[in-house]
Amino acid sequence: MAGLEDASPWQILKKLRIIGGGWAGLSAAISAVQRGWQVRIQEAAPSLGGRARRIQHTGLHLDNGQHILIGAYTKTLQLLKLIGVKEQQVLMRLPLHIITPQGFQFKALNWPSPLHVLTAIATAKQWSIQDKFSLFKTCVDWQIKQFKCDPSLTVQQICKTLSPSVYQSMIEPLCIAALNTPASQASASVFLRVLQDAFLSGTHGSDFLLPRVDLSELFVIPAQKWLIQHGAVIECHQPVESIKSSQHNDEINILACPPWEAARLTQHMHPHWSLTTSQLQFEAIATVYTHSKSFSLSHPFLALPIHHPTQAQFVFDQGRISQHPNKKGLWSWVVSASQGDRDAITQSVLHQARDLGFSDLDVITTVVEKRASFSCKPGISRPPSHVGQGLWACGDYIDGPYPSTLEGAVLSGQQVIDQIGQI
Ligand SMILES: Cc1cc2nc3c(=O)[nH]c(=O)nc-3n(C[C@H](O)[C@H](O)[C@H](O)COP(=O)(O)OP(=O)(O)OC[C@H]3O[C@@H](n4cnc5c(N)ncnc54)[C@H](O)[C@@H]3O)c2cc1C
Repeated sequence: MAGLEDASPWQILKKLRIIGGGWAGLSAAISAVQRGWQVRIQEAAPSLGGRARRIQHTGLHLDNGQHILIGAYTKTLQLLKLIGVKEQQVLMRLPLHIITPQGFQFKALNWPSPLHVLTAIATAKQWSIQDKFSLFKTCVDWQIKQFKCDPSLTVQQICKTLSPSVYQSMIEPLCIAALNTPASQASASVFLRVLQDAFLSGTHGSDFLLPRVDLSELFVIPAQKWLIQHGAVIECHQPVESIKSSQHNDEINILACPPWEAARLTQHMHPHWSLTTSQLQFEAIATVYTHSKSFSLSHPFLALPIHHPTQAQFVFDQGRISQHPNKKGLWSWVVSASQGDRDAITQSVLHQARDLGFSDLDVITTVVEKRASFSCKPGISRPPSHVGQGLWACGDYIDGPYPSTLEGAVLSGQQVIDQIGQI
């Protein structure tokens, strides 16, 4: 990343209005400020962070949804470092380790990539030799094809050579965690790209990084402080109603709001871009926060077998992860690609918990984000970052290599600034 000293006089002339202060907007703002540009963020909500931010509940700092990062999120990790956030203080780094309450285990050793994955396959518990061989053979096949496939295929379709056991215990949970779309409907080419980055970008690309602090403390507040210290202007409570509403005619506008809002704002001036964007579909994610007086999970998080889309695929023990006394006994149950309403999901998760032997749970709250991510299906059309004359867009939905993720949002913010820098 360029430092402030690299800014040329021509670049200093640029003035940006960034509409939306989620992770993409903040990432774009930081990149622009680094080039010496003038930046103003207008955010509709009272605080920044968008879909990845803190919420308050009866004195507790929770998130509007449990998030998980991986070691391959290089842009996000570099950005945290740049703004002075120390990874060890805010993230718990765990080597790839998928474990279920029923005793299934897939654990990578600290060996060079891709040996770490091969050892995980070889030592996986509860898989037969045939299961392991099917995964090994399929991985070699994906590697030979350089993790590329026909973009019209689903994850399920490229996994036909896998045994049912490997597919259910490994592929389905990984796919839903990474793409928030069930494997039977998810884009195989995006999934393969995520696997390639996670498993072949070095031993630590597949590490899990679990937030020890809420998402605002992790990135949003340090980013806001850094931006203000470097001269950016941040205006919250400022919903932008129209892109013509800027008082400053010399500003370049960047839409960093969610896709449905970007589609609305561009409807009349850029109907083609707006139509592409408005055709994206979305998946929900629900997080059920519970409190347990008597239990602590055996690991910071567990993968869970599911039989219904109102059940959680993962449960996280915030007490173990954060080590903060007021998080003791706080668990977050994540229902990705969730269906049904808040009450149905809460009851279903409580039932699931009882079946797992956790009977003393009190529900703290359930957060349902109806449009948590775009539905990452084969062949979807994602809009480009250039909308039209003087108008750009960034966000996790803009055409790019990743599904709806923090890394996708951060990368998109940086890329839009690189592109504006070239004009
Ligand atoms: C429950 C949940 C769980 C998730 N889990 C993970 C995970 O484990 N790992 C992962 O990598 N990703 C995860 N994600 C995805 C991740 O949170 C998103 O990809 C990312 O936050 C998107 O950032 P963004 O900046 O593109 O958009 P947003 O966060 O949506 O930001 C857009 C901003 O624009 C503002 N805005 C809207 N309209 C206007 C307007 N008219 N004027 C001004 N401002 C406006 C909004 O208030 C918001 O602040 C999860 C998402 C959710 C919801």
